[in-house]
Amino acid sequence: MPRVERIGSAWQKRHIGHFIGGDWVASDSGRSYQNRSPWSGEVLSEVAAGDGEDTQRAITAAHLAFGGWAGAPPWRRQQIFLRAADILEGRRTEVLGALAAETGCGRHFGDVQIGFALKLLRQAAQLAYQPTGHLLPSDVEGTQAMAVRRPVGVVAAIAPWNASLTLSGRAVVGPLALGNTVVLKPSEESPYTGGALWAEILQEAGLPPGTFNVVTHAPGEAGVVGDTMLASPLVKRINFTGSTPTGRRLAEKAGRHLKRVVLQLSGQNPLIVVRDADVEYAVNAAAYGAFMHQGQVCMCARRVYVERPLAEEFNARFAAKVANLPTGDPSDPATVVGPVINEWALALLDRRVKEAVELGARVLAGGVPAPPCYPATVLTDVPDEAEIAQGETFGPVVIVEAVDSAEEAVTRANASDLGLAASIITGDAHRGLRLASGLDAGIVHVNDQPVNDEPHMPFGGVKDSGWGRFGLGFAAEEFCELQWVTVRDQDRTFPF
Ligand code: ADP
Repeated sequence: MPRVERIGSAWQKRHIGHFIGGDWVASDSGRSYQNRSPWSGEVLSEVAAGDGEDTQRAITAAHLAFGGWAGAPPWRRQQIFLRAADILEGRRTEVLGALAAETGCGRHFGDVQIGFALKLLRQAAQLAYQPTGHLLPSDVEGTQAMAVRRPVGVVAAIAPWNASLTLSGRAVVGPLALGNTVVLKPSEESPYTGGALWAEILQEAGLPPGTFNVVTHAPGEAGVVGDTMLASPLVKRINFTGSTPTGRRLAEKAGRHLKRVVLQLSGQNPLIVVRDADVEYAVNAAAYGAFMHQGQVCMCARRVYVERPLAEEFNARFAAKVANLPTGDPSDPATVVGPVINEWALALLDRRVKEAVELGARVLAGGVPAPPCYPATVLTDVPDEAEIAQGETFGPVVIVEAVDSAEEAVTRANASDLGLAASIITGDAHRGLRLASGLDAGIVHVNDQPVNDEPHMPFGGVKDSGWGRFGLGFAAEEFCELQWVTVRDQDRTFPF
């Protein structure tokens, strides 16, 4: 397998190889593709275009490394994650630049991602010292019983481009910290910040070869990598973060292989503004929640329901704020709305907004593409049959809708097949909690907007937004096996 030479510390224009068994290697086929910046269009990197063979090699490397890593003493694992955090922190400026160039990620969201990744690593270091099981009382005299948590073996992770650093990070760090080894497939849009960068950091921190592996692939060729992971008997779990249609395809195939998957999928997240809310706060929360990272976060607010007495004032103030959000170069710290990830995403946004308008929707702000950006856009009077009202549209478009009551908003929100995040803004926090209990969503925030995450929280959705939870305290359920073990201190009397 040919080796890939790492090119200095400047990440731009580097060759990105697969990271397998602790080595940077090219694809066995020798193929590669060019990854471009969504803002400037320049070629950032020449990336190994992996296939089933490359994936298989990475799985084998992870399998071979499992025994050593699972048996490593806690202090050693702890040190590696703490060191990794320090390395990432030291590279903050460079990583912010890479996130901006590779994914159009602005300064604020870059800081959010790095902040999350640092906490993730430092909390994961603690996981090494968490209890690994418990003793259970048994009715069989002389038997001592216990439930012992054991790492599963090789975990495969498939991550998206939108929050490349954090979503790849949470897909691998929890499973690793629990003693598993990992093969990561980053998105073709973020092979560096969602893949190779993690390999660089973890390698430098001292993670043993083979414990963590990365396989990249050309656009449109994710399927063969995913299928190889699903079919391999060495892969014991798969975690996937991405869209509902892709997650559904994966889950169908995983069923055939009886492989457990964690699925973090699309959202169509409501933000409900109750009539006793502070309008200015609600406007600011809605703008942040809808347009953070140009609406390319699965938790972003997609629908804002406003109780009728506030609706007119809210709409006017919200539209005025949104129309003035600075749009353009993601490396400019003043920019709020940077480029969308690629021209297909831009075309989809344009088509769905136009379709909604043809069906009777009104544009309160934005609505005219400014390639490679799509401006922050507010629509109202969107009919239910419009595509944008139905599934997730990943970008800076939000729908506002007046409702007679917050309860009506809950009913409207629950009509969606998706149930990831939701939020409620009200002057009465107890009312907010009552409304929260009626929402079919994995995550609800009262008096906040829906985009929130912390490494230890039970992050995940219900309905078609997926199943399973990330969150370090909860990852053990997903990425460990519980083994029932008994031991007797005396012989037993058998009836025959
Ligand atoms: P997004 O629109 O956010 O990119 P996708 O679901 O298309 O959502 O992509 C999320 C991740 O899933 C990416 O890493 C992508 O390469 C991967 N992916 C896409 N299609 C498949 C597939 N058929 N099998 C496995 N992974 C896939």
